[in-house]
Amino acid sequence: MTKDVQPIFIMPEGTQRNTGKDAQKNNIMAASLVAETVRTTLGPKGMDKMLVDSINDVTVTNDGVTILEEMNIEHPAAKMIVEVAKTQEDEVGDGTTTAVVLAGELLKNAEDLLDKNVHSTIIAKGYRLAAEKAQEILNSIAEDVSVDDTNTLNKIAVTAMTGKGAEGNKELLADLAVKAVKSVVNEDGSIDIGDVKIEKKVGSGVDDSELVSGIVVDKERIHPGMPKIVKKAKVALIDSALEMKNTEMDAKIQITNPNQMQAFVEQEEKMLKGMVNKVMASGANVVICQKGIDDLAQHFLAKEGIFSVRRVKKSDMDALARATGAKIVSNLDDLSEDDLGYSGCVEEVKVGDEEMTYVKDCKNPKSVTLLVRGGTEHVVDEIKRAVDDAIGDVVAALRCKKVVAGAGAPEIELSKELRKYASKLKGREQLAVEAFAESVEIIPRTLAENAGLDPIDVLTDLKNKHEKKTQKWAGINVFTGRVVDSWRIGVVEPLKIKTQAVKSASEVANLILRIDDVITGGDDSGAGKMPPGGMPQGMPPGMGGMPPGMG
Ligand code: ADP
Ligand code: MG
Repeated sequence: MTKDVQPIFIMPEGTQRNTGKDAQKNNIMAASLVAETVRTTLGPKGMDKMLVDSINDVTVTNDGVTILEEMNIEHPAAKMIVEVAKTQEDEVGDGTTTAVVLAGELLKNAEDLLDKNVHSTIIAKGYRLAAEKAQEILNSIAEDVSVDDTNTLNKIAVTAMTGKGAEGNKELLADLAVKAVKSVVNEDGSIDIGDVKIEKKVGSGVDDSELVSGIVVDKERIHPGMPKIVKKAKVALIDSALEMKNTEMDAKIQITNPNQMQAFVEQEEKMLKGMVNKVMASGANVVICQKGIDDLAQHFLAKEGIFSVRRVKKSDMDALARATGAKIVSNLDDLSEDDLGYSGCVEEVKVGDEEMTYVKDCKNPKSVTLLVRGGTEHVVDEIKRAVDDAIGDVVAALRCKKVVAGAGAPEIELSKELRKYASKLKGREQLAVEAFAESVEIIPRTLAENAGLDPIDVLTDLKNKHEKKTQKWAGINVFTGRVVDSWRIGVVEPLKIKTQAVKSASEVANLILRIDDVITGGDDSGAGKMPPGGMPQGMPPGMGGMPPGMG
C-alpha cells in the first residue's frame, strides 16, 4: 500500500525551518550582504552613505557602526555581523568597517570550502587556529608607543580622521585630540576617557574648534544682571530647584483681603531670599543648578553678583563635580563651604549665536572639553564622530602601548605569515588557515578598489615588497596609487584595532558557520503566519508599510 503518509508535526504550524547547507548558505549570504554594504566606505577614499530615517532625519556618514545601526537590520545572521561592529566600537572605538568586511570575507571563503565538501567544523577549527596565530603575528610586528611620543600620537589621530568629514581640518583636530588625551593621562598611565568631554556647537567653521581646559556647559547665565565672568570661582552644585513649589503637598490658599495677598507674596519672597542667603552663607559666587531657579531667586542672585545657570544636564553636573571638586548638594540647608568646588574662571562666552558657560582652570586639571564647531548640524555631527574616533584611537594606542602602520600593510604581512603557518599544518585545517590568510587580504584589496586602483596590480606589488624585500610596512598610498612605506607616510593605527577586528570577525564567522538549522517560530498572535511558499495577506511585521527596496 503506497498511501500518502500522514505528515508528523513536531512544531506549531507556521514554524519555518531551514536546514543543512541551505541554512548555512542563507546565513552566509545575509552576512556577506551586510559586509558588502559597508565595504565601499572603507579607507580614506571610501564613500559616504546618506541615511534617512522614518521621520526623514538625514545622517551622512562614513562610520561603519552608525550605518549599520541606522539600517535596522532584521535577518538574524546579518544582525550578528552588526554585533561585531558594535563590539569593535565598544572595545576600540574604531575599525568597525574593517571588522565587518573581514567577517564577510571569512564567510565567503568558508562557503567555497563548503562547496568543496570541507565540513564546517573543520573550517571553524582552522579559523580558530588562524585567529590565534594572527594575534601572535600582529603583536610581533607592532611597534612601541608612549605618551611622550606626540609625533606618533598625532599620526594616529590624523589617520583616524582621514577621509572623514573632518578631512579639511584634520591637522588641527588631531592636535586638539592628542592634547586632550595627553592632559587626562593619570600618573600611573591609566586613562579615564570620561575626563574628555566632547561638546558640539553649530556655527562658524571647523577651525574655530578648541580645547578648553575645564568643562563647557551649553547654558547661559540666567539673568543679565549677573557678572559675565567670575574669577577664583567658588562653585556650588545643586540638584534641587530654587523654587517655591517643592512642597510635597498641594496647598490651596484662600485669600479674603488684599493684605493677605501682600503677606503671602512677602512670605514667598522671604523664603526665596532665604535660599539665596544660604547660598551666600556658604561663600559660593557661582551656582550651577540641575533644576529650575525661580525668577525672584534669579533677581536676588543677580543682586548679590552670583553667576548662576540652571537646568544643567546630569552628566554635566557629574563632570563639573569631578572637575571642580564640588559635592552635588540636594538640600540647601546642608550647603557649606566644604561642598564648594573651585574654578579659576567661570565665564559666559558667546559661541556662534548662543552663549555657553566655560568653567576653566579647575581644581582637577584632568578635565577637558573639546568644543567641536562646524557650519551645519550634519557637519558638526560627522566631525564629532571623527574626533571621537581620533580620541578613541589615541587612547587605545596608549593603553596597549603598541601601534602598527596601516594602509593594508599589516594585513599583507599577516597573510604572508599565516600562509607560512598553514604550510606546516596537516590535514584539511590547512585549507581553512589558507582561506583565512586569503580573507585578510580583503582589506588592502578594498582600499585599492575604493581608491579606483587595480586591485590585482596593487596586491601583486604589495606581496612582492613584503615577501621578497621584507618591507613589513609596505602599504598603499591611496592618493597616489603607489605602494609605499605606510609608516613613513604617517598612516599609524593602534594595534588593538587589528587584533580586535581579527578576533571578533573570526568569532562571528565561526558562530555562523556552526549553524545548520534555522527554526523560525510561528507568530503566536497568528497575524503574521506564513502560508507555505507564499506571502501572507497584508504586510509582514517589521516592513513599515513599504514594498521591499523602497525603505
Ligand atoms: P574603519 O571603520 O575600519 O576604521 P576606515 O574607513 O576608517 O574604516 O578605514 C580604515 C582603513 O583605512 C585602515 O585599513 C587604514 O589603515 C586605512 N587608511 C587610513 N588612512 C589611510 C591613508 N592615508 N592611506 C591609506 N590607507 C589608509
Ligand atoms: Mg576608522
